[in-house]
Amino acid sequence: MHVHNFISMYIEKHKIGIPCRRHYLGLMQEWKIIEVLAGTLKLDGGAMFGVVPKSIWNAMLDCDEQNRCTWAMRCLVLEQGQRRILVDTGMGNKQSARFFSHYEPTGNTIIPALNSLGISADSITDVLFTHLHFDHCGGAVLKQAGTEDLVLAFPNAKHWVSKAHWNHALNPNPREKASFLKENLLPLEAAGVLNWVEDGFPYGGIRLETVFGHTESQILPIIQDLHGQEWMYMADLIPSAHHIRLPFVMGYDIRPLETIKEKERILKECVESGRNLIFEHDLNTPAAKIEFDGLNYAMAEALTL
Ligand SMILES: [Zn+2]
Repeated sequence: MHVHNFISMYIEKHKIGIPCRRHYLGLMQEWKIIEVLAGTLKLDGGAMFGVVPKSIWNAMLDCDEQNRCTWAMRCLVLEQGQRRILVDTGMGNKQSARFFSHYEPTGNTIIPALNSLGISADSITDVLFTHLHFDHCGGAVLKQAGTEDLVLAFPNAKHWVSKAHWNHALNPNPREKASFLKENLLPLEAAGVLNWVEDGFPYGGIRLETVFGHTESQILPIIQDLHGQEWMYMADLIPSAHHIRLPFVMGYDIRPLETIKEKERILKECVESGRNLIFEHDLNTPAAKIEFDGLNYAMAEALTL
């Protein structure tokens, strides 16, 4: 008897269902996508819109007397069985009052935000960082109450990041240096929890795309949900629904022309495939379906998660 016939008979005899087999083989493709808002922060409107004049961006978005707009830190939990993958962690709360005065964060940091959804920090099995700018990774390292000790917020989790980006973050250029904070990074290395996405990200139903315009090797996950719909988490490539237009590129980007090419390619793919976008920093629009009118890409429909 051929081996595969034997396996088929065994499966038939023992009533092993297809979902069970797929689970066993690690082939489950569908994920529950849970939105987790790790508070808000303020960032300079000019820096967020690059060459776009204030007369244009301020017509879409209010700013304060210091020219700052309010942005979300929208993280995701991707859930499948016992696996819970946290995508980005917000900025955390361990830096000085002087540091936070520049950003005036409000709302929950990541752990209370997860707890409010009934999710404990200990139950997070994986943390995936899109990149290591402080507003994306700071919540993964906590200052232990009453001490100066830095501890992991998600002690049971594998922490996934691009190795190329990690090396870039530890040896930053002068322009990005203020965004890569050693206290967010070194405790992860010391704890031995880092895994490189270049070595393979082992979960079916999640593909990782690497982009280079905003920073070196930013990772954007594309997730298949429980209904077979694809969603792409845009991190800082298209941080908000106000950044869909191709020239609307952040002043922070290290390779802005590369960002424009990456936006055009990904937006085209999204229109053609029906994939939706999730915006990490948009205060009011968590996600959107995209359309193309022959000249410009735009939001066809605002979506919730
Ligand atoms: Zn960034």
